[in-house]
Amino acid sequence: MKEVNASIITIGDELLIGQTIDTNSAFIAQELNKIGVWVKRRIAVGDVKDEILNALKEQSQDWDLIIITGGLGPTADDITKPALCEYFNSKLIVNEDVLQNVKNIFGKFNKPVTERNSKQAEVPHNCTVLPNKRGTAPGMLFEKDEVIYISLPGVPNEMKGLIENSVLSKLKEHFQLPVILHRTALVIGKGESEIAEMILHFENSLPNHVKLAYLPSYGMLRLRLTAKGEDAAALEKEIDTLFSQLKEGVKDYLAADEDITLQEVVINLLKEKNKTVATAESCTGGYIAHLITSIAGSSAVYNGSVVSYANAAKENILDVQQETLQQHGAVSEETVTQMVKGVLHAMNTDYALATSGIMGPDGGTSEKPVGLVWIGVGNKKETRAYKINYPFERNRNIQFTAMTALNLLRRFIIEQERDEKTD
Ligand code: ATP
Ligand code: MG
Repeated sequence: MKEVNASIITIGDELLIGQTIDTNSAFIAQELNKIGVWVKRRIAVGDVKDEILNALKEQSQDWDLIIITGGLGPTADDITKPALCEYFNSKLIVNEDVLQNVKNIFGKFNKPVTERNSKQAEVPHNCTVLPNKRGTAPGMLFEKDEVIYISLPGVPNEMKGLIENSVLSKLKEHFQLPVILHRTALVIGKGESEIAEMILHFENSLPNHVKLAYLPSYGMLRLRLTAKGEDAAALEKEIDTLFSQLKEGVKDYLAADEDITLQEVVINLLKEKNKTVATAESCTGGYIAHLITSIAGSSAVYNGSVVSYANAAKENILDVQQETLQQHGAVSEETVTQMVKGVLHAMNTDYALATSGIMGPDGGTSEKPVGLVWIGVGNKKETRAYKINYPFERNRNIQFTAMTALNLLRRFIIEQERDEKTD
């Protein structure tokens, strides 16, 4: 089977000056990877017709598929359509379906369709239109000298809709693509090199068409197996067998055997045990609450958070004792322990999590340096506190604290629920 290779061209001056981060390429590359199309180049060019034309010429020499995003809007700096017309020798014609879509979208907002907007319905005569339900600029597919070109709007949400609803199926129809299967394990509690050591034998024994990737983030590690083949059923069986071996190899550190986040692991665990949790956040300022509540369905297990940033909030809302704060300070074992108890009571939950630390850049002392964090976790029977020193800058300190706290909560719940069973 011949490999299908692709290049992604993103268009826009805003990408070159760094005002907009190119998230489109990352999304498209991930989606193409899943269906077995290999992205060989990613390039960005400005809103300049000649630059776009040059990029198209260059990239089409080596690759089978070119995906372009951006520059399709109705404003003067959006220059992709004229460039495509020149490149493919096209005339612009009005596409009635696109015009109707533009009218529908403007109708929804009770706005008149201006001439500028109706221009969105003009498309090169020799393209296949890919309908854009989320916006006015359609996607366009061209074929020239056995290369497929797909032009998509730059607005990330519209681009995603087009990729999911039409581009992937068109590519599967057009190219003969391999079967690609992924299996992901979330591993916590050991570093990348230690895990690599543990599964060295497994990794070395993998056949050529199965690859293992190490994807670390915030003290966690995702291990992803990717298998490539032609027979879907046989490949499925093979990857499942290998994945079982991988899980066995890391079983003491395995937090999930699917591609989910740590907060999803915690939510699933609480749902399974029919238990609830609340958080009391000082240094993480509600970030843990945000991570949890960004998961649909978290309301079944999550009662809420007290963002007790000031000492007065810790005292008044969470019942932390004034003497505790005076004697030990806000960043202390005693304070997080009382925060856990306070929020357990205030929110009436089964479990609670609390954070208090010095995230920097200021506020550190020799006794309590920047990066010092206390994390508390508990239930009605027991409360535990953990002291950690992070060496990072503010944002990373906050993110690491949140992830560590969620993991400590996860471990505490597992242990307590096990004890409850054996009680
Ligand atoms: P519009 O009709 O809004 O002009 P368009 O197809 O012309 O759509 P652009 O003008 O390139 O798209 O960009 C629209 C929005 O999408 C802008 O906010 C831009 O910053 C953003 N955008 C463009 N390209 C990318 C990209 N590669 N990654 C992330 N965002 C992008
Ligand atoms: Mg633009």
